[in-house]
Amino acid sequence: MIIELNKISKSYDNAGLNKRNVLSEISLSISAGDALSIVGPSGSGKSTLLNILGTLDLPTSGLVKINGNEIQNFDDTQLAEIRNNNIGFIFQMHHLLPQFTLIENVLVPTIPLKDKSYKKSAQERAMNLLDSVGLADKIHQRPGQLSGGECQRATVVRALINEPNLVLADEPTGSLDQESAEHLGNLLSDINKKHNVAMVVVTHSLDLAKKMDTVYNLDHGKIEKYNLTK
Ligand code: ADP
Repeated sequence: MIIELNKISKSYDNAGLNKRNVLSEISLSISAGDALSIVGPSGSGKSTLLNILGTLDLPTSGLVKINGNEIQNFDDTQLAEIRNNNIGFIFQMHHLLPQFTLIENVLVPTIPLKDKSYKKSAQERAMNLLDSVGLADKIHQRPGQLSGGECQRATVVRALINEPNLVLADEPTGSLDQESAEHLGNLLSDINKKHNVAMVVVTHSLDLAKKMDTVYNLDHGKIEKYNLTK
């Protein structure tokens, strides 16, 4: 077990004007090596759900547990440390730092690490990972010199650099052309299988969603398994 949501709900109270219930008593548990995707219409709450899974946001009610511990018991510094050690994030935009080279960018999540020897080995991990996503010859280039697909593959490496148990991806192919999107989807699926990293992908693309083992549909605040034979 990595993460467990127990009847979580989320509502936004827009300055008291109109309360909007986005998620409604959702229960979901993610175990080591799981690969799941969440599809649903725009505005259905997919990003909200992913942010709660990543402890970037809190539910209005319900429990979130990481490795059995309720996250309400942790302060912001502890949560940041848990996130940095256990969870890799991939977003729609690559958010690579333009003044840094690829290798420097993928090493950014290692900066706050306290374990000095692990930190030292990060350089070698970065090289191996960049090689595995086909970027070995681009490590000293800056993001502006690379294609969107290459930048997004670098973000996959950045997400994996601290060897997380879980990777959360929010519309990771949303800014890519069809061919790069297909490549990235296959890469995410391979990583899940080879590194045994649990993977949760939020997307409106059914092609990408189907690369994960289980597809959920989020609509009207509820999730249910998506019937792919429909
Ligand atoms: P999706 O990722 O499926 O497009 P989101 O999770 O981004 O959906 O948003 C779900 C709903 O919650 C939308 O109606 C959005 O406007 C609303 N929402 C998201 N974040 C906030 C916020 N910080 N304050 C108020 N409403 C928000």
